[in-house]
Amino acid sequence: QPVIELNEIRKTYFMGHNSLEVLKGITLSIQRNEYVALMGPSGSGKSTLMNILGCLDTPTAGQYILNGKDVSKMPDDDLAEVRNTEIGFVFQQFNLLPRLTAAENVALPLIYAGISKKDRTERAMVALQKVGLADRSHHKPNEMSGGQIQRVAIARALVNNPSLLLADEPTGNLDTKTSIEVMEIFGQIQAAGNTVVLVTHEEDIAEYAKRIVRLRDGNIESDNLKAIEIMAK
Ligand code: ADP
Ligand code: ADP
Repeated sequence: QPVIELNEIRKTYFMGHNSLEVLKGITLSIQRNEYVALMGPSGSGKSTLMNILGCLDTPTAGQYILNGKDVSKMPDDDLAEVRNTEIGFVFQQFNLLPRLTAAENVALPLIYAGISKKDRTERAMVALQKVGLADRSHHKPNEMSGGQIQRVAIARALVNNPSLLLADEPTGNLDTKTSIEVMEIFGQIQAAGNTVVLVTHEEDIAEYAKRIVRLRDGNIESDNLKAIEIMAK
């Protein structure tokens, strides 16, 4: 069973008397343990698609099956539950709280889940180990480099053991060398059994993903996994 199954997804924004169809029938499936980069020119619909994948928004038409569950028409409360339990988010702006240590930042999502302090600390440490930052657990964001801060944010996204990790321009604020380090961390997370989907507009950064899906004007322009499948036929 794929983690993500999109079937003819359409999204139209309505503004007064005007409407704009931004996604024009996206069909895509992503298996467990894939590492996908979503690319495309500005305005091609990447953010709109990521918002749908992240259950922050629902499609106007079409079907989105996440881990076997149809989330296309779920009410907001149920979507929030899906977001909190099945999806980890990483942002371009790292969104860490400056007064908290790395471990405390990573543990934050577990507070809302009602997990005891002892278990929160333990799980935060496990997540920090996954991004190679166990030795920085007591540091605050202003004591860390940009790359380290983004790795803390990735650890925070992983702490609930989500089945899907979504990242919107996660390297947008990082220099090339640090961006590559972050892409390699995502690669390790994927290798450990997670599914990673990220948006980037940098070709040389996207190369670190295992599959590149390109959008243009709300359609899939190319999908290099499909290219490999076609060559195999
Ligand atoms: P990308 O992330 O590839 O730049 P977006 O998904 O952000 O593309 O936007 C695609 C198109 O949809 C753009 O023309 C944008 O102006 C429009 N758009 C995005 N969000 C909204 C919205 N909430 N309301 C109206 N139009 C929107
Ligand atoms: P709840 O309704 O349960 O409070 P939220 O809407 O606050 O849920 O967000 C749930 C998850 O979605 C969080 O992990 C949060 O990081 C993520 N999230 C919230 N807003 C955005 C956004 N604009 N873009 C991407 N992810 C977001």
